[in-house]
Amino acid sequence: RRSRSHQTVSPEAADIARVLFSADDIYRRVCELAREISADLAGKQVVVLGVATGAFVFLADLVRELSLPVQIGIIHAQSYYGSSTESAGRVNVSFDRLKVDISAKHVLLVEDIIDTGRTLQKLLTEMVAASPTLFPKPPASISVCALLDKQARRVKPLPRLIGSGKLYAGYDCEDVFVVGYGLDFDERYRSLPFIGVLKSDVFLHSAEGKQQRRATGEGGG
Ligand code: 5GP
Ligand code: MG
Ligand code: MG
Repeated sequence: RRSRSHQTVSPEAADIARVLFSADDIYRRVCELAREISADLAGKQVVVLGVATGAFVFLADLVRELSLPVQIGIIHAQSYYGSSTESAGRVNVSFDRLKVDISAKHVLLVEDIIDTGRTLQKLLTEMVAASPTLFPKPPASISVCALLDKQARRVKPLPRLIGSGKLYAGYDCEDVFVVGYGLDFDERYRSLPFIGVLKSDVFLHSAEGKQQRRATGEGGG
């Protein structure tokens, strides 16, 4: 129904060497995922949890294509980066600002990308451990919907999903660092409507920023 042809293109598009998934491709895939999810979760009490920040564009597009009433929340996951394009392994998860109760609900976690798998592993572990402290009961099921899956990079196996939970993956993604459609490099490029690979000189020119980030050891999302 909606057209995904974006009339305005940010000047950031000039830094893209190669487009992997166009806005139209992504929109078609999002509709397919939404149809499958809607069929699987029909009649259930569903809470959709987007993982900030990267999933915000995907979350917005996906929920608008669901034919289900859903509650929506945002959770925060932060990897501590050794360099700006690779997570060092420690992941910090926070449900602090989550206003929706996931007790006995069917949770759909929405992620931008599964890379090493560390974030997902931590999120699922913490979500189960959050009851009864934060939520009176555990969720009835936890499913995961990730737009991109970089299977080649996995260091943690995908955790067993809870209950009738299922993994929905939009695309297998080659082992390259991608930006756009919510995904950032140094908090930039998130607003590009497509997903692509940056020109290599973009990384070189930000070497200074990279050193600063290494010194403070923080980044991610
Ligand atoms: P993990 O390695 O824990 O599976 O992924 C951690 C997070 O790193 C992802 O949720 C995403 O925010 C970020 N990430 C992983 N691969 C990429 C990538 O290719 N591009 C961008 N921009 N972020 C990525
Ligand atoms: Mg993420
Ligand atoms: Mg990031």
